Amino acid sequence: MKDRKLAIIAGQEEQLLHFVQMIFHWSKQLSVFTNGLLVSKIIKPVLEKHEVKLFERKIKTIENDTQQCTIHLINGQKEVIDGGFLMPELKPNLNFAKDLSLELNDRGRIYTDEFGHTSHRNIYATGDINTTFAEQLVHAASSGSKVAAGIVREIASSNFDFQTK
Ligand SMILES: Cc1cc2nc3c(=O)[nH]c(=O)nc-3n(C[C@H](O)[C@H](O)[C@H](O)COP(=O)(O)OP(=O)(O)OC[C@H]3O[C@@H](n4cnc5c(N)ncnc54)[C@H](O)[C@@H]3O)c2cc1C
Repeated sequence: MKDRKLAIIAGQEEQLLHFVQMIFHWSKQLSVFTNGLLVSKIIKPVLEKHEVKLFERKIKTIENDTQQCTIHLINGQKEVIDGGFLMPELKPNLNFAKDLSLELNDRGRIYTDEFGHTSHRNIYATGDINTTFAEQLVHAASSGSKVAAGIVREIASSNFDFQTK
């Protein structure tokens, strides 16, 4: 899809610019569809400067052809694209964390240290639920492995109650 006509379909503004920057890295022929969301005055000039097309009307249909897609908007506008990206909103179910009064981090996930200790002594968290960066499988697996190792170490060492000094 490098240098082809690409679409970004994003219904929330928070990560829109980040997504545009990432895909712009692959192709300068970008169209952003917000599906009814009105983009703020801060972001609009940035898109204009980089000749990123902006469509704020709701999408009516996406017509699929073998090579291309046509995105039809409710106002009759349409745009032909070669490919595109949907920007999902990843939202963990944190009701249980709220019930347990666990402290949250800057991203609204469960706050932990490197070894998964939460603000509650006997509760650990790892994976997407405590991430401070991007939700990715390899990050979740890596942090899960570290937290599991830490828990086993704590349990094992608790059997050896001795003072070093
Ligand atoms: C649509 C989509 C596409 C993605 N694409 C990619 C990709 O291409 N590459 C990539 O690296 N990552 C991708 N990710 C992110 C990746 O899936 C996550 O980062 C990863 O799965 C996080 O692993 P986890 O173990 O922390 O959480 P999860 O895999 O979400 O596992 C949490 C588990 O806990 C269970 N659970 C939740 N609440 C409870 C409860 N109260 N009691 C018992 N069980 C519970 C859930 O059912 C689930 O099985 C994608 C995610 C989504 C949603």
